[in-house]
Amino acid sequence: MLGPVILAASRSDKMRRFVSAAPGTKQVVARFIAGETVEQVVPVVKEAVAKGLEVTLDVVGEDITTREQAAAARDAYLELIEQLAGLGLGTKAEMSVKLSMFGQSLEGGHELALANVRPVVEAAAAIGTTVTLDAEDHTTLDSMFAIHEELRKDFPQTGCVIQAYLFRTEDDARRLSQAGSRVRIVKGAYKEPASVAYQDKAEIDKAYVRVLKILMEGDGYPMIGSHDPRLIAITQELARSAGRKLDDYEFQMLYGIRGDEHVRLAAEGHRMRVYTAYGTDWYGYFMRRLAEKPANLLFFLRSMITKG
Ligand SMILES: Cc1cc2nc3c(=O)[nH]c(=O)nc-3n(C[C@H](O)[C@H](O)[C@H](O)COP(=O)(O)OP(=O)(O)OC[C@H]3O[C@@H](n4cnc5c(N)ncnc54)[C@H](O)[C@@H]3O)c2cc1C
Repeated sequence: MLGPVILAASRSDKMRRFVSAAPGTKQVVARFIAGETVEQVVPVVKEAVAKGLEVTLDVVGEDITTREQAAAARDAYLELIEQLAGLGLGTKAEMSVKLSMFGQSLEGGHELALANVRPVVEAAAAIGTTVTLDAEDHTTLDSMFAIHEELRKDFPQTGCVIQAYLFRTEDDARRLSQAGSRVRIVKGAYKEPASVAYQDKAEIDKAYVRVLKILMEGDGYPMIGSHDPRLIAITQELARSAGRKLDDYEFQMLYGIRGDEHVRLAAEGHRMRVYTAYGTDWYGYFMRRLAEKPANLLFFLRSMITKG
C-alpha cells in the first residue's frame, strides 16, 4: 500500500525539498549512500574489495533538466574512473549509470545520452572495467536498449538491466541471452501501470524465476540483483542444473542492505557485487529504498521526530 505512495512522492519537487531539509534525514540516508564525494567513496570500495566483494558504483542523480547537468554527470563518472585507475581493481569495480542523468529525457535526449555515456564506457574499458546501464521507468527502455546495442558494437562487455515486473522482460531476456552479454535481473523499483507490469508481489516473483531460468539456460552472463533469500536459493539451484560454475554468474545487492549476506555468499565462493551509490543528489534513489521496505519509512519518520 505505502510503496506506490512513496514512489509517487519520489517525483515531487515539494517532497524533495521537505525530505532534504528534514531533521534526521542525513543519518537515514547514510545507510544507503556511501558518501557524498569520490574521495569518500574510494575507501568504501577498498574496504569492500578487502572483504572479498566487488562493487558497481553509481553516482546518484536522475531526471536532470539541462544539457549542462548531463555533461556534469558524465564528468562526475570520468572523475570517478580517474580515481579508480590508480587502484588497479579491473572488473572488481565497475560503474552503473542511469541514462536519464546523461540527458535522455531532454530534447534530442537519445543522441545526447549516447554521446555522454560513450566516453564513460571508453574510459572504463581503458582501465579494464565496464559499465552497466540501469533500467528506469518503462518509457525509457527502448532508448536504453538501443543505446546498449550501439555501445556493445565497440564495447561488448557493456551490461544492462531488465525488470521482472514488466510483461516485456521475458522477450528481452531471450534477446539478450547471447554469448558475451551481461544482464542484471531485478524485480523493478518504479511505479508502473497495470497495462505494462505485474502489480502483485507473488506474480513478480514468479516472473523473476521465469526470467532467471531463461538467463541461466542462455549463453550470457547473468547478474542476479536481489536480496530475496528465496530467489537466491532458486538462483543457486538453477545455476547448478544449467551446469554453470560459480564464476559464470554473480549476485548483486545494494550497499546498506543485508550486508552479512554479501559476506556470506562471497565466503561460499560466489561473486558478490555491491551496488554502491554515492553523491549529493540522492533523493530519488533514497525514496525507492524507502518504498521497497515500509519499515525504512517508519525508521525515517522516527528519526525525524527524535531529531526535530
Ligand atoms: C544490485 C541492484 C541493482 C538494481 N538496479 C535496479 C535498476 O536498474 N532498475 C530498477 O528498477 N531496480 C533496480 N534495483 C532494485 C530492485 O528492482 C528492487 O526494487 C530491490 O532489489 C528490492 O527487491 P528484492 O529483489 O531485494 O526483493 P524484496 O522482496 O523487495 O526484498 C527481499 C528482502 O530484502 C530486504 N530488502 C529489500 N529492499 C530493502 C530495502 N530497501 N531496505 C531494507 N531491506 C530491504 C528485506 O529483508 C526484504 O524482505 C536494483 C537492485 C539491486 C540489488
